[in-house]
Parts: sequence; C-alpha cells; structure tokens
Amino acid sequence: MTALPPLYLASGNLHKVRELQALADADGLPLEFRSARELGGMPTVAEDTGTFVGNARKKAQALRALAPPAAWVMADDSGICVDALQGAPGVESAYFAGPAGDDLANLQKLVEVMKGQPEGKRGAHYVCVLLVLDQQGREHVFEGFCHGTLDHAAQGTGGFGYDPLFIPQGFDATFGRLPAATKQTLSHRAAAWRAFRQWAETQRS
Ligand code: IMP
Repeated sequence: MTALPPLYLASGNLHKVRELQALADADGLPLEFRSARELGGMPTVAEDTGTFVGNARKKAQALRALAPPAAWVMADDSGICVDALQGAPGVESAYFAGPAGDDLANLQKLVEVMKGQPEGKRGAHYVCVLLVLDQQGREHVFEGFCHGTLDHAAQGTGGFGYDPLFIPQGFDATFGRLPAATKQTLSHRAAAWRAFRQWAETQRS
C-alpha cells in the first residue's frame, strides 16, 4: 500500500475546513490534510457558474495553480435547496441575503421567506460537492445530500450557516442543537466525504 499525496483544501471557510478535517481524522485515512493558508491563502474566486460542480471546479483550479504538483487539491461547494422555493437558494446559499455573504443575514432571510409555510411544505436538503484535482489535473467529483425540514425559528448555535434552522430527517432538533458528532455522521459533507474516501482507498495500491 502506498501513502496518499498531501491534500490541500481550496476553502477559506473555517467551518468547512474544520468539518472536513474532523472527517479525515475520524476515518483513519493516511492523508496529510493541508490548508490553503500554507499556500498564502485561498485566492478569491467568483462563484458565478450557476452549478455546485462548476463553482467547486473554479475554486479547485485556483488553488491547483499554487499547490505543489505532487499534491491533490479538494474544493467544497455546498448549499441548501428549499422545496417551497423551487430549490433556492441552492448554489447561491452563501449570498442569499446579499453579496456580503453574511451567514446570519442569510439565516434570518430564510426564516422570513418561510414564514407561514405549513409543516408539509417545509422540506429542504443540503448538497455538498467535493471536487478533487489529482497530480495530473484530472477531476474527480463526489456528491452528498442531507434531507430534512426547516424549523420556524433558529434553534441552537451548533454548526454554521443554515444549521440552526435545519432539522435532519429522523430527528426532532436542528443541526444547531444536535451534537456536532451527529452532524458529522449525517451531513451532506460527510456523505460526499465517504464517496471521496472510497475512491481515495483505490489510489493506495
Ligand atoms: P459556498 O460553498 O462557499 O458557496 O457556500 C456554501 C453556503 O451554503 C454557506 O455559506 C452556508 O450558507 C451554506 N452551507 C453549506 N454547507 C452548510 C452546512 O453544513 N451547514 C449550514 N450551511 C451550509
């Protein structure tokens, strides 16, 4: 079995970095996980492609240009898709309340726009695309979903972004209230990570 190359994470979002680092630590994959900060920080990228995969590709390519050739580069593009809003904010989740990308303002806007929606119309799901560029610049895409419903008011302080509003299927509390370990098992990011992990294992022999 060969060791895996170091993996640079193309993200400046500390919440995502922490969650992905915890997933890597928990599963014992012999992977050297590195931050974009070691390469001078994540370059600014316009997330304007209209798709999770397209935006993840732009982020990964921006860091690929700075990373050592022997490394892998991984980007995470993710968001929440709300049934009653025909899938919005989706790929625009980070900018739902405006270009500032303010997590709290985004959360408050979602509370507002969902006001008056009855229980049966509060379905939503998170999407996470993890896109890896390998040493040859080949692209590998891993996707994960997490289905649930939206609460009527923000509850709890765990997680980040829309987590205080999102109740995962099979639970009666939001990710804001559930233990971090529960989110790490159930989340869209965890599901995408598991798909990545399966592929990474095949690269060891
Ligand atoms: P982007 O992938 O950088 O475009 O931003 C994703 C946005 O989706 C974040 O700013 C959050 O608002 C939201 N999001 C993605 N993943 C999560 C999550 O695990 N919990 C809560 N919100 C999330």
